[in-house]
Amino acid sequence: MSWLRRGVEGNRLLVSWRRNSAVKVWALVSLLIFLAFGKPHADPPGEWRLTQDSEAIVPDAKLRGQIFRALDAAEKAGTSPTISHFKVRAATVVEIAGQEHVVLGGNTEYDLPEAIHGETSVLNHVTADYGADATRHAVRFIAFYGDYSGGAGSCGDCRDYQLASTDWEHLLVASGLSSDHTVKVTRFADQIVCERNFPEVKAEKIALPPGVLEKIVKSAQEARLGGVTLFTTVRHTGAAGLAYSGKIYRAAGGDDAAFHYRYPIGGLLQQAETERDYFLRAILVSGEQGQWPVISYRDRQYGYEASSFNHEAGKPPIQLILTNGQGEYRMTTFEACLPRAFSTVDFRPEAVKEFIRTHRGDR
Ligand SMILES: [Zn+2]
Repeated sequence: MSWLRRGVEGNRLLVSWRRNSAVKVWALVSLLIFLAFGKPHADPPGEWRLTQDSEAIVPDAKLRGQIFRALDAAEKAGTSPTISHFKVRAATVVEIAGQEHVVLGGNTEYDLPEAIHGETSVLNHVTADYGADATRHAVRFIAFYGDYSGGAGSCGDCRDYQLASTDWEHLLVASGLSSDHTVKVTRFADQIVCERNFPEVKAEKIALPPGVLEKIVKSAQEARLGGVTLFTTVRHTGAAGLAYSGKIYRAAGGDDAAFHYRYPIGGLLQQAETERDYFLRAILVSGEQGQWPVISYRDRQYGYEASSFNHEAGKPPIQLILTNGQGEYRMTTFEACLPRAFSTVDFRPEAVKEFIRTHRGDR
């Protein structure tokens, strides 16, 4: 059956030659692609597209186009996050006299942990290029380009800035994911909780040891007599915090010529932390007699970070209590009044655990 063997072997040779040819052709095509485009790469992420739940928030096709255009530009925004190495690349598109303009922003960090954040950067650039009126009326969204979609909102300070400078009730926040080009859009207003929406509470329902509520009210009111108010006209407040150690810390707001305001909640927390008294039970804020105090978002951020220490130590969140000075109270938590906040626990949970373990004064 030599003819059959020869025939089979002939077929094998033919198949083998075809396979080899296919491999050679594939190798040649790969080489040409490599020569033309460099190293082979994964599929590009394609066109930007809104996540399903974002489509209803941006029904306007023109606005969608502007968001996608901003994201394309934001990819190339310059940043300098020398401490965190976390790039925040932001952009918006403003329409002025019928012309669309892309404006970029990027975060920069310096010296001690201090930073210019992406959203304040882009808004400041809009103001520098087109004026404060454009920032208030022409900025409809801020788009962020990145590889992380953790769902966190702006820090407290950036919330204060956006509240003061934009049409914040209509402002949108678009997060474009670099890996697959999906875009999640939310409303900035979802990050805002007005003091009048803090739940009202009767004094007897505030769970503090007997006599302590009266004590911290008096302490906060006394604190408010001090502080520095060379520029601050309204909104001057005093705050008093009760630590789990039983000690009370207090501070009032202080302003200065550089406009580096020192916040009352931040101030009392710094005093407590200086004494390694890291766990606060309640913080009470008092404003002008008969008025509810305003709690800036930056101060809420300080409270939120401190409350995250409570959480790590298995303690309840810090109670934030407001008084109008007439025996009426509102009570909430920093977690509730700073929605979608972030703290160091989100980025470096082990570092926070270790810090608390080695530093707490109540061991
Ligand atoms: Zn910020």
